[in-house]
Amino acid sequence: MPGKRKYTNATFTKRVDHEAGRHRPSRSMKEPAVCGDCGAVYANRRWTAANTGSGDQQHKHWRPPEVTVCPACAQQRTGEPRGFVYLDGAFFVTHHEEIEQLLRNEAERAAEDNPLARIMEWKRGDRHKLTVTTTTEHLAQRLGHALEKAFSGRAHYDFSHENKLARVSWQRE
Ligand SMILES: [Zn+2]
Repeated sequence: MPGKRKYTNATFTKRVDHEAGRHRPSRSMKEPAVCGDCGAVYANRRWTAANTGSGDQQHKHWRPPEVTVCPACAQQRTGEPRGFVYLDGAFFVTHHEEIEQLLRNEAERAAEDNPLARIMEWKRGDRHKLTVTTTTEHLAQRLGHALEKAFSGRAHYDFSHENKLARVSWQRE
C-alpha cells in the first residue's frame, strides 16, 4: 500500500532529524541557505548576492533554501564594524554629494566581489565630517583608495590585525 509506506518513511525521517539536531551544533550551515534580511544565498560553501543566480535556481536538484542570517546582516544587527572611514576637511563640505555617491558606487562594486562587504552606517558630524563604517577591513581600505583616486587629498591607513580593524582617514582642505 503506497499510502502506508509513505507514512512509515515520514516517521523515520523525523526521528533522524531529531538525532541530528542533538549532535550537531546549530552553527553548522545547511545548504542552500538564504539570508532572510538581504536575500544573499549560501551554496557550495560561499555566499553570493541575491539575484545573481542567472537561472541556477531552475536546476533540477534545486531545493527550497534554509532561511538564515548571513554574516554581514548579523554584523549589522550587532553593530560591530570591521572598518572605519573618517572624512574630514573643507572640501567635503562643498562636495559631499559627489563624495557620498562615489562611496556608494565603490561599495556596490565591492559587493560584486564579496556580497558580505558592505557599508553599515553613515554618521555625520561625530568628530569627523563623515564617518562610514564597513563590515570588512578590505572595504574601508578600498573606499580610501577610491577617495584618493577621485578627489586626491590625503589618506592614512591604520590596521590593527589583532582586532581585525581598519581605520582609514581621508582629508582634503
Ligand atoms: Zn544578509
